[in-house]
Order: sequence, then C-alpha cells, then structure tokens
Amino acid sequence: MADKQTHSFQTEVSQLLDLMIHSLYSNKEIFLRELVSNASDAIDKLKFETLADDSLVEGKENLAVYIEVDKDKKTITISDNGIGMTESEVNKNIGTIANSGTKKFLKGLDEKQAQDSNLIGQFGVGFYSAFIVADKVTLTTRKAGSKNKKGTQWTSNGKGKYSTEKVDCPEFGTSVTLHIKEDEAEFLDEHRLRGIISKYSDHITVPIMMIKPSEDSKEIEYEAVNKANAFWTQDKAGLKQEDYDEFYKSLTFDFEAPLTQLHNRVEGKLDYTSLLYIPSKAPFDMWEPKRKGGIKLYAKRVFIMEDNESLMPLYLRFVKGVIDTADLSLNVSREILQGNKVVDTIRKASVSRILKELEKMAKNQPEKYATFWKEFGMVMKEGVVEDFSNKDKIAKLLRFATNKSDDATQTATLECYVKSMQKDQKAIYYLTAETYESAKGSPHLEVFNKKDIEVLLLSDRVDEWMVSNFGEFEGAPFKSIAKGDLEDLDSKEDKEEKEKVSKDYEQVIEKLNKILEPQVKEVKISSRLSESPSCLVADENEMGGNMERIMKSLGQDIPDTKPILEINPTHPLVEKLKTKIDEDLAKVLFDQAVLSEGGQLKDPAEFVKRMNKLIN
Ligand code: ADP
Ligand code: MG
Repeated sequence: MADKQTHSFQTEVSQLLDLMIHSLYSNKEIFLRELVSNASDAIDKLKFETLADDSLVEGKENLAVYIEVDKDKKTITISDNGIGMTESEVNKNIGTIANSGTKKFLKGLDEKQAQDSNLIGQFGVGFYSAFIVADKVTLTTRKAGSKNKKGTQWTSNGKGKYSTEKVDCPEFGTSVTLHIKEDEAEFLDEHRLRGIISKYSDHITVPIMMIKPSEDSKEIEYEAVNKANAFWTQDKAGLKQEDYDEFYKSLTFDFEAPLTQLHNRVEGKLDYTSLLYIPSKAPFDMWEPKRKGGIKLYAKRVFIMEDNESLMPLYLRFVKGVIDTADLSLNVSREILQGNKVVDTIRKASVSRILKELEKMAKNQPEKYATFWKEFGMVMKEGVVEDFSNKDKIAKLLRFATNKSDDATQTATLECYVKSMQKDQKAIYYLTAETYESAKGSPHLEVFNKKDIEVLLLSDRVDEWMVSNFGEFEGAPFKSIAKGDLEDLDSKEDKEEKEKVSKDYEQVIEKLNKILEPQVKEVKISSRLSESPSCLVADENEMGGNMERIMKSLGQDIPDTKPILEINPTHPLVEKLKTKIDEDLAKVLFDQAVLSEGGQLKDPAEFVKRMNKLIN
C-alpha cells in the first residue's frame, strides 16, 4: 500500500517522552500497565457500545487482552479486540496530548519535580510509556463495526516523528508491538511480564491472556494471567488492608497507599456496592476544572463511565473508587446519568458516608486527620458553600489557624471557637491576609490579643469566598476585624475615653483628612490599636484590601475604593501630630498602614525619602 504519511509529534509529546525516559528509569515496567489499561479500556468501551448494537463484535464472544513475546524478533505484542480506532482517531489520540491539564502540568514542571516518578506516575504517562523500553513501536488498529476490513498502522521510533498508513486488517481491535531496546531484554521474559501484570493489573476486569508454558510446544494454549475478579464484589471480611491498597494502586496508578477507604454493600430499596478511597496526597490537577473524574461507575460489573460530577460533588473531587449498581439499566446513556434518581440517591449516600468517616477520623485519629486536612482542607472549604444540605457537618470538619495557634498549622475547630467565645462576644472574628505570617503580625489583631479574643487567621485563597458565603455557625455570624467599627468590643469606660480623646484630636483629624484626602475616605481614632501607630480599615460593606488584591491578581477590574485610616492616639508618633502637623509624618502613617496589611505602595521611593527625612 502506497499512501504512507509522516507526521511530527506535538511539542508536548516530545517533551513528555523526554521527561518519562529520564524520570521513570526505576519504574520502567509501568509501560505494560499503561498498554494493558488502554486495551482493557477499549474492551470496556466496546462492551458498552454493544449494549445498543451487538453486531459490533462481529460474532466474537471472548473479548480479551493478549500478550505475546517473540524472542527472535525481540518484540512484545499487546493486542485487544476492543473498540479500535479510525485513522483520524489514531491521529488525534496517538501523537497529541489532548488533555489540557496534562499540557499545563508539563509546562509548570521544574527539573526536580520531573525526577519524581511518583508525580509522573500519578497523571498516567499513557501510551507513550512504550518508548521507555522500545526503540520502535507499531500500532495496528481497526474500528469495530467498520464496513471494510481496512485498518490503520501507526509507527514511530519516538524521536519526534511518526508515520501512518492504511493496511489490511481482518480483525477489529488494536495491537501494539514493541521492538524492545537492546538493553531492556529482561522484558522479553514471560515470567517477568506475568509478575508485572499481577503487580499492577490483577484486578482489571477483562482477562489478560498469555500462552501457557508447556513442554509440548506444538500445542498453543492461552490462559488468563490476572484474577479478573471485580475486586469490590468480594466479601469485606476476607480482605486485608494490603488487598485494598493494592487495588487502589491498580485503580489510580498512585504509587502511595491511600489514607483510608470505605467499602459498602447496600441492599434493599437500591442495590449497589461502593468502594471509595481517600488518597494520601492531593493530585497535581486538583485545581484543574477539566480534570478527569475519579469514580468509575459500573452497572452489574459492566463499566459505564468514569465521571465525577454526577457521582461526587466538586468539593469531594479527590475521592477515588468504584460504584457498581444493579439498579441502572445497562443501556443507560451517559447523558441520562445527570439527574438520574438512582445515581442521585447513591451520590447522596456516598457523600454522607464520606463525611461521617472524616468525622470519625478527626475524632479517633487526629494525626491522620491532620494529614487529610493539609492535603484536602482547601477543597473541603468549598463544601460549606457548595453543599448546603451538609453545611453543618462540613463546617465541623473545618480547621483553622488563629491568633492563639503556635504556627500556621490549621487545627482549631469552629465548635471550640464558639465554646470559648467571651461573654459578650457575638461574632466569629476573622482576618484574611495573603499569608499566615502577615495575618499574625497585623496591627488589626492588637486589641484582640490584648483582650484575649480568638481570631481566625485566614490565608487560603478560598477563604474570602467561603466566609462571605458562610452565613452563621451555631448562631454566630462571621465578622472581619479589618472592616467597619468594632464598637461591641469597647466597654463603657473605653467609649467615654475614646470620646474624650477624639475631642483632643479634632483638629489633627481635620488636617489629616485634608492631607490624605486623595488616598483615604476618612481618618478616625482607632479602638483596634495598642502598639502600631496606624492601620487601614474597610467599610463594613466593602471588599477589603486582601480581597481587592486577590481580585486584581485574577485580572478583575476593581473600582478603586478608599480605605479608612485609623490612628492610635497613644502612640508617640501620633501624639507628635498634636503639637505640629507634619505632612511627611501624616503620609508615612498612611504608607505604614498599607505595608503592614501586606499591600504595596504606589510610590515606594517617595516613602523611603520621607522616612529618611523624618529620621534626620
Ligand atoms: P489515556 O489512556 O489516559 O487516555 P493514553 O496515552 O494511554 O492516554 O491513550 C490515549 C488515547 O489513545 C486513549 O484515550 C484512547 O482513545 C486511545 N487508545 C490507546 N490505546 C488504545 C487501544 N488499545 N484501543 C483503542 N484506543 C486506544
Ligand atoms: Mg491510557
């Protein structure tokens, strides 16, 4: 056949190939896991399509993956009678990286991270891993159900280019032949391959067939080399933690054992089994909106789809596992799943179970829970807003750093906070800042520290959004200590004192208002400060400095709002203003307030000049 075409790999593919060969030298064997998993996916897809149209399998009954070694030719061939690919699908799937998350991930990777095979393994290196052990790969494929018996052959040495051509193809499905590199000959040993399969692919539900070793070489007989049992259908009592860990690894390609799992068989109104895992590390793409789902849905052991949104809310997107139900008809379409009653019920029950498990973990295994919180706390915070029906449960799972914590570790609970509120305290006080350190050092905290009132220090990105949508916890609303008045903190004596001081400062404030008019809405005597001379405060209903900075960093156009400048009447610098209004000093008080809340000065050089002048 003539029309052979040569193509270049997308740059990201070449990059990935490079990366893989360098970082997976101690995990070369995973190439087999990847190719077997593709083959089994292809069979799952075909089985699914066959439900609607059984002519697709062309009368074939035994769908399986076959692995064959040819020691003379130095090749391994992995073939499947799965769905196969058309020529354009080959070009699209093998030769480009379609997943935008993976692309972005590759771009952001630095050298050190690239060496971390755990990281690489996590996002699934896929088909290209064949080139770890092969210097030439040939893939031949024909789409199941295609009218003629023509297929596509794809060939590459993994060095920037590949070629495709039309070939005769009597069987549907795909076969991948690896021409094994000289120094990787160990992989031409069937024993070695069987070992790799039982390590990574034992629980794949389609049979993986290899030639049975026998003395009589005339008769070729195949046997399944994997267990091919649907792991989750086994009885809990007979399973050990190692078994669960192993299945998790084969399911997720994670090298690390999970933090915990929940295995449930439900019988009654609905009939289903769920095996859900909480990983011990956050995935690299947790913040990628288009990431792949982590829950595999089966109907009576037939794989339906991998999805997250209809089976798990977004804030639990890190949960991995399998849900298998007898209550979905096998020809359910993917679209129907959204809003399907059975699916909704299973989802609701799964969420409850996960939240209950986390609650238990927090109570009985606080160290384990701390690990969980460190990895997934930021996502869990989305839950209080996203999942209204479970808000109270989720709220109790949240952990915070406060002005009473020793370090940035988030350990305080809202329940404890509310229990230890002071007699007249009505709100849950919080302060948001870019980092824990800048919150901890903020002048806004001074009066709270002095009066021994606890304040949540919030420095995760989701925090601003979470607190502003939180509503109340056990009747207490959230209140930012950088916004509005703190009247309720002042005692009667405090108030009288403040009134007196305000009189003393009447003229000073009037003049400061004039000098700082371009920058501030108003200058006020503060009840927050005891050590610092000044701080900025936002109006009760305004955004606040931290939120403004976040919005700007996200490229949002924010109307400039002016803050309120509060001054500390007992500070010597401020007292100085009573004898003489110094314009430089006034401006420095403002600039210092900007800096101490983590903001940036419009004109830093001018600030330095003024400071020097004052020091002299
Ligand atoms: P992933 O499996 O994560 O999608 P891969 O690089 O392993 O990434 O495979 C890329 C794509 O190539 C698959 O999604 C699939 O569409 C196609 N593919 C790979 N191997 C096969 C196969 N044996 N049969 C059918 N399609 C395949
Ligand atoms: Mg794959």
